[in-house]
Amino acid sequence: MDRLIEGHKRFLKEVFPGRRDQFHLLAESQAPEWLFITCSDSRVLPDMILGTGPGDLFITRNAGNVVPVAGAEVDGCTATIEYAVEVLMVKHAILCGHSDCGAMKAALDRKGLENLPKASRWLQHVEAAFSHRQPIDPADGPHAELASLIRGNVVAQLHILRAQPSVARALAHNAITVHGWYYEILSGRIEQYDEQARRFLPLIG
Ligand SMILES: [Zn+2]
Repeated sequence: MDRLIEGHKRFLKEVFPGRRDQFHLLAESQAPEWLFITCSDSRVLPDMILGTGPGDLFITRNAGNVVPVAGAEVDGCTATIEYAVEVLMVKHAILCGHSDCGAMKAALDRKGLENLPKASRWLQHVEAAFSHRQPIDPADGPHAELASLIRGNVVAQLHILRAQPSVARALAHNAITVHGWYYEILSGRIEQYDEQARRFLPLIG
């Protein structure tokens, strides 16, 4: 824990004073423009890769960047989406998967899930990824099969996101745009799913 305590000390000493006004403005309200749904993976750092900061991104994370199908059961992700869309009225919802995703690796070969009953059940949510697999990209090298499934999962979860009641309503009024991203840890680059072309293209050409 020492590293975290030291880090917090540095934040109070070196970061907070310079941004005091910004934090004071944000202390009692927020108006983020973007809902960001991504994996819990420690290597995905939204604010770092997008140059955003306090008050910018409304984030929900879980293993495999899953959006559970809307139904009777309540979960943290769909409740967060509802709040972001209905109350915060975010303009964009971004669903971001990433390379080397452990959740998708587990979905691919089910190994290591024997003693993880919760994770095993949770990963039923990514089954739809298999029917949305993307073409193999030789640039992904030995991880091409996994990468194609991860991109497929982004497409699958994007469909479920669009069907969330609050998102569907906002889409009908052109109040929100949804985006599907794939973040490549090795290169730091983001690809965006192009709905018309039905494939992933570099976010920055
Ligand atoms: Zn992941």
